[in-house]
Amino acid sequence: MSPQFDVVVVGGGLAGACAAALLARHAGIEPSRVALLSGQLPPPADAGAPAELRVAAISRASERVLGAAGAWQRVDKARLCAYERMRVWHESAAVDGPAALCFDAADVGEPNLGYIAEISALQRACIDSFVDARGTLIHAALERLEIGPEFARLQCGAQVLETRLVVGADGVHSAVREGVGMSVRSHDYRQLAIVATVATQRPHEHTAWQRFLHTGPLALLPLFDGYSSLVWSLDLGEARTVRDCDEAEFNARLDAASAHALGTTRVLSERLSFPLHSVAAHSYVGPRFALIGDAAHVIHPLAGQGANLGLLDAAALCEAIARAPALREDPGALRVLRPYEQQRRTHNLAMDAAMSVFHGGFAAARGPAAWLVNRGLTLVNRSGTLKRAFARQALGTVGELPRLARR
Ligand SMILES: Cc1cc2nc3c(=O)[nH]c(=O)nc-3n(C[C@H](O)[C@H](O)[C@H](O)COP(=O)(O)OP(=O)(O)OC[C@H]3O[C@@H](n4cnc5c(N)ncnc54)[C@H](O)[C@@H]3O)c2cc1C
Repeated sequence: MSPQFDVVVVGGGLAGACAAALLARHAGIEPSRVALLSGQLPPPADAGAPAELRVAAISRASERVLGAAGAWQRVDKARLCAYERMRVWHESAAVDGPAALCFDAADVGEPNLGYIAEISALQRACIDSFVDARGTLIHAALERLEIGPEFARLQCGAQVLETRLVVGADGVHSAVREGVGMSVRSHDYRQLAIVATVATQRPHEHTAWQRFLHTGPLALLPLFDGYSSLVWSLDLGEARTVRDCDEAEFNARLDAASAHALGTTRVLSERLSFPLHSVAAHSYVGPRFALIGDAAHVIHPLAGQGANLGLLDAAALCEAIARAPALREDPGALRVLRPYEQQRRTHNLAMDAAMSVFHGGFAAARGPAAWLVNRGLTLVNRSGTLKRAFARQALGTVGELPRLARR
């Protein structure tokens, strides 16, 4: 007997919601046989609300994937902020000096490098698109998973679901990953990222600002309402002090850490904190399961790439599944899933390694090493070719991309 579903995606975060919407539209599967199991649904849209605290720099490649998912068209463009350039500098250099690396969308003939977007707005757009395509949305959490030779069985409260393929998109503490016994390699940065919305004295100029301090990177990302989103990574003890101190002290500390790049700053929101680690699953696929997004890999947020990698995973997995009929296989067959892993794992591991090198290199750059870092940044700044390469990296158009990210 055929199971109820061809694919059940567990986790309605950005990666899972996008994967479900893509599968319902592009995988050649009857949409109602694709289910999205979501423990938590994003709150309804509120056009007048202040910017949400969880935002992400969405690359051009991700914009295309979200477009293919039928989601980008549904996002309120008034709540996106295009960013046109990035300015990156070390604590030992001046923000307007020759060692402040600045790369611009105009250098590569693009209007912008991407958009700073609210994660829950993107998630909501993907879920709405999935439901419109007649996918099956189930509001429940996975409690138990059994993988059998013909199908996987998922226990969610009183319901039992059977499916050819289960997709683990359930985040860093993935129950699917644990359920299939997939091991991970992990590294704890022993840091927290403090996230808040701040007002700055000078306008953000549609620029993503990033200062590397020996204590960790500090980023100010431009928001649609003229304010900025702060992502400030610090060692655990200091991070807790900064997160919990009063507003006046927080503002003073932030002014010092941002070196007044945008003048004085004033915190407007509560302060959230996120533990920072890198996690890499030893394999992304096995018979009847696949892992995507943070369930498969977590990287340091310093280059704002985690959500982008998850969206590319979603696109690559959808394309692999769409080839199942040509291989005379069902979507859960390992032969169908392997190409997804081959395309994405090397790319994600390379990004993780680059983040570790950047993080360690900038943190250790003091004394003569700081001179070397600044010399390197000055040379990159003078090289049109290298600056264009950085701009393309931010656009997410480098390397082997899934077809859905190239349109
Ligand atoms: C401070 C910070 C800044 C960042 N900035 C950027 C950026 O600028 N650009 C960028 O690209 N990335 C950024 N990232 C990374 C990005 O936020 C994440 O990589 C991305 O949101 C992960 O999405 P996901 O869908 O894989 O996982 P999650 O967002 O963790 O979603 C998992 C979902 O699964 C659900 N779930 C969990 N368990 C179950 C269960 N048992 N049953 C059913 N559902 C379940 C959860 O409720 C959740 O909805 C940043 C990360 C941090 C910490």
